[in-house]
Amino acid sequence: MSGKVLVCGGAGYIGSHMVRQLVAAGFEPVVFDNLSQGHAAAVEGVPLVRGDLLDPAALAAVFAGHEFDAVYHFAALISVGDSVIAPELYYRNNVVGALNLLDAMRTAGVGRIVFSSTAAVYGNPRTDKIAETHPQAPINPYGWSKLMMEQILADHARAHGIRAVSFRYFNAAGADPGGAIGEAHDPETHLVPNILCAALGLRPMLEIFGDDYDTSDGTCVRDYIHVNDIASAHLAALDWMDAHEGAHVFNLGNGSGFSNLEVLEAARKVTGIDIPHRIRPRREGDAGTLVADSAKAQSHLGWRPQHSGIEEIIESAWAWHRAPKYGPFA
Ligand code: UDP
Repeated sequence: MSGKVLVCGGAGYIGSHMVRQLVAAGFEPVVFDNLSQGHAAAVEGVPLVRGDLLDPAALAAVFAGHEFDAVYHFAALISVGDSVIAPELYYRNNVVGALNLLDAMRTAGVGRIVFSSTAAVYGNPRTDKIAETHPQAPINPYGWSKLMMEQILADHARAHGIRAVSFRYFNAAGADPGGAIGEAHDPETHLVPNILCAALGLRPMLEIFGDDYDTSDGTCVRDYIHVNDIASAHLAALDWMDAHEGAHVFNLGNGSGFSNLEVLEAARKVTGIDIPHRIRPRREGDAGTLVADSAKAQSHLGWRPQHSGIEEIIESAWAWHRAPKYGPFA
């Protein structure tokens, strides 16, 4: 495989794992990132353009400088809790920014995009496992911003003939086994890195948001998927789009749910550290349980998760967090 691809948000957590896989597969990625959460060190040796999706001139310049076969779009604000507090930021970055990207693609004649969506488009699930056909009813502005973009992509496919794949990620976790890249948000809001930071004494304890959900132990249940498995699905999507017109959505998860307390216990096993925690009130915008049915991605894309065990996922994150090469704790 070969060809030039633009990776918006390529210096971020999932984007940088994508860039590594693209390079390994023979593509020439160009990263466009405002470095608000991304790290130049995560994409060493790969062309990096520092720019913002809210700056159409910067976007026009990057498209003028290269002939791209496709675009990967990972650049977005991602915190459910923050989106409830400041929805305007989420709609501006995640919707207006992505519209600017689509405008730039249309002007440049680039017709394929892979978009990072989220399980948060489903809201509170009505079935144990969530398939793509499950009703979409987000319960926070983050989820709405992503669902709006899925609709916008479908409309652009109809009106302008672009091809689009949206991946609804469940909970991305883990790190590339090489130890060169990993999760490094500032501030960090996600469960697995926060548990590992508590294990390392970088925060006094893990705070668990809510223990009165309708789950086996009362804490929220999520489906954790290794970041490299997310990236490999994105790679498969490029080939798939060669043969398929229109806009399509796929879930990416492992199909197994773990409660927040179960993830903490798995981390205790992996690290050998009795990680302190306390229960806090619920975090606004959190659904009780989110577990994927990813059969569609498996059958259409021929994709299979390769690192599906929760302990294996945490082990790879632990290797990174003990010796991060960049980020707030490096
Ligand atoms: N969570 C928690 N403490 C933390 C971070 C997250 O209890 O420090 C909980 C959060 O309330 C949710 C689950 O962990 O129930 C997963 O949250 P995360 O932010 O990692 O991902 P999300 O599911 O919101 O995308």
